Amino acid sequence: MTHASVKPLTLTLGHLYPDQLNLYGDRGNIMTLQRRCQARGIELRVVGLGIGDALAPDEYDMLFIGGGQDKEQAPVAQDLYDLKGIGLWAAVEDDMPVLAVCGGFQLLAHYYRPAEGPDMRGLGVFDAWTLHKGKRVPRCIGDIALNWNGSTLVGFENHGGRTYLGTAKPLGKVLKGSGNNAEDHTEGAIYRNAYGTYLHGSLLPKNPHFADHLLSLALKRKYGGEYYRVLAEAPPASNGYSSATLPEKSGETSGESIMVTAVMEEEPLTPPSFQLAPLDDRLEWEAHAYILERLGLHHAAAATIRAHIQE
Ligand code: GLN
Repeated sequence: MTHASVKPLTLTLGHLYPDQLNLYGDRGNIMTLQRRCQARGIELRVVGLGIGDALAPDEYDMLFIGGGQDKEQAPVAQDLYDLKGIGLWAAVEDDMPVLAVCGGFQLLAHYYRPAEGPDMRGLGVFDAWTLHKGKRVPRCIGDIALNWNGSTLVGFENHGGRTYLGTAKPLGKVLKGSGNNAEDHTEGAIYRNAYGTYLHGSLLPKNPHFADHLLSLALKRKYGGEYYRVLAEAPPASNGYSSATLPEKSGETSGESIMVTAVMEEEPLTPPSFQLAPLDDRLEWEAHAYILERLGLHHAAAATIRAHIQE
């Protein structure tokens, strides 16, 4: 048993602008994270961060920002830039998992140019930008499926803005639907552990593998390093490296001591993996397969059923 595993695991999620950016069931993502944590005895605390609140990155383990219409996005854009930008950047550079949906995704890129009114300045976390090409250009609305990490993600999108990636890596390749711009088959963006996407509130409910990916990132980030420090300070005798062989204690510079030191320094390369206990996700995967089927992706739907529903 690892040192970390005996401690109760707790995570704090900062939910940015819950009152302004909450379209198409975006809160479903938070509820899914809470349910999946609760089922495993992990405490997930959710803290709302509204207009006027500063973002202190050390207080959170994950961040979520949802989508909103242009009229809600404008005041949020200003507040995000003025009050939360530096904290959010620090969190991202420190590998905090961040999920940004639709309008929130647009505001984490360089800018959003709406059909009317001035540009909304974004944080530039993603090297990407968004243009709304006018009210006559059809919105990107409907179910969507994309390739992700050897699997699929499914969801629902509804946006007028078209996002174009610079150097940002896409979240996945669109199989059906519009994605970033209905032109280049990209969907979303990734920078470090920050994920931008157009998939709204059904994203985490219908994609349990992605929900667990985000939770694993948060747990590894919070507890992985701590495990290493505990191990480095007091290596248990049973691990084969007695503390007597450490150079500072023995005063020796034997080959053995150097080897032990090297082993210790390599520990961070293999942090303990958080194997989240599997949950009964048959309902979630049925919903996932149903969307694939409805989009005409019959092979992908059958593969989902074989992998996750049929034994
Ligand atoms: N206002 C943005 C657009 O229409 C975002 C919409 C949303 O978040 N659903 O492109």
